[in-house]
Amino acid sequence: MIRFTDEQEQFRRAVARFVDAEVVPAAGALDERAEFPRELFTRLGALGYLGLRYPEAYGGAGADMVTYCLLAEELARGSMSLAAAACMQSLMGTHFIHAYGSEDLRRRYLVPALRGDLVATFALTEPGAGSDLASITTRAERRGDRWVLRGTKTWVTNAPVADVLTVAAKTSGERGLENIALFLLDRAAMRGITLGKSIEKIAVRASVTGEILLEDVEVPAEHLLGGETGGVEKIGGILAEIRVMTAALSTGLARAAYDAALAYARARVAFGKPIVEHQAIGFKLADMLTALHAAALVTYQAAGRLDAGRAVAREAAMAKLLASETAVRVTDEAVRIFASYGLASEYPVQRYFRDARFLLPGGGTSEILRVVIGRDLDWDRGQVFG
Ligand SMILES: Cc1cc2nc3c(=O)[nH]c(=O)nc-3n(C[C@H](O)[C@H](O)[C@H](O)COP(=O)(O)OP(=O)(O)OC[C@H]3O[C@@H](n4cnc5c(N)ncnc54)[C@H](O)[C@@H]3O)c2cc1C
Repeated sequence: MIRFTDEQEQFRRAVARFVDAEVVPAAGALDERAEFPRELFTRLGALGYLGLRYPEAYGGAGADMVTYCLLAEELARGSMSLAAAACMQSLMGTHFIHAYGSEDLRRRYLVPALRGDLVATFALTEPGAGSDLASITTRAERRGDRWVLRGTKTWVTNAPVADVLTVAAKTSGERGLENIALFLLDRAAMRGITLGKSIEKIAVRASVTGEILLEDVEVPAEHLLGGETGGVEKIGGILAEIRVMTAALSTGLARAAYDAALAYARARVAFGKPIVEHQAIGFKLADMLTALHAAALVTYQAAGRLDAGRAVAREAAMAKLLASETAVRVTDEAVRIFASYGLASEYPVQRYFRDARFLLPGGGTSEILRVVIGRDLDWDRGQVFG
């Protein structure tokens, strides 16, 4: 059984109050304007939410993964765009600085990023390399006490506003996974980092994405995060967290869609009774609730395993697969329950429907997750109930 501690419940209630008061009322306009939500992002920093998982010495709260998932779930219920920007900042954007950066780098970049004063992001994907990391072509060449980076990154979250970027690049020419390293790039201090094409999209519109062009960017050796190789293992080290966090985002979005659909089904009358009383709609809601329940269970079970230091690769992949596909299905059903009104901008269900698509590619597509899960197909009772 999954049981939250009193502290976790209190935290969830505090985040929910913030989301209801400040995020829900702003979410529609943020989506329409498709602009980075600077004000709310800074508020998240001031509230300590961006530093949740980091030690107090750097301004963090030293919280566990379950607590982090509660934050992700509640934020996603209010605005997936804000949640996406916050989760990039608090996980992939800052993790490698904390884990592999010098004390000086941590003071200069991690501490202000956790306060929300710097925007941090992670640039791995390239025009010719998404799931297939071995195909990245961004090169890092050593020249004396510096590295020189050249290449193109795309789909970079917060690209137009990012102050610091953790960039994956190859330190030698061969195709493969062994020669990938991570570098910390400072947009203001290093020349040759420019914004390429910005990507107009239908989902998480206020979590702005775009290309970053690296043209002979000179990077001091200290900014190489954790050695000339082993970048893939370093990314792999937080892959389970990324997947479980995405499962929590999915659960939050599915909840928002379910709540909206239920309220609408109780209020909308057709053929003399609220549509919730038509069995076809009642069954839809029953299926949505069942799927949502399952998504929440797998998400927090995987988060709990992470906190307990137990093996979690398969559970994290399952949680992300089930929860993200649930978000897609539940938001689709919600739009059907709203019928014509599901297409109207005045109701948020159309945004939930669009935003659900964001949950599919990041942290491994559903196809890749099935490849991961398919590597070990034995059913282990202990992994479920142990
Ligand atoms: C809103 C958004 C924000 C993002 N932010 C970032 C970011 O900040 N930083 C970053 O680096 N990236 C980011 N990404 C990119 C994301 O991580 C990639 O899109 C993802 O890795 C998938 O890569 P791709 O889109 O190139 O798809 P591809 O890898 O080209 O896949 C295309 C299709 O082929 C399938 N496929 C590929 N390989 C296999 C296989 N071996 N077996 C079966 N099927 C396969 C996939 O499942 C998919 O259906 C973001 C993406 C989005 C949508």
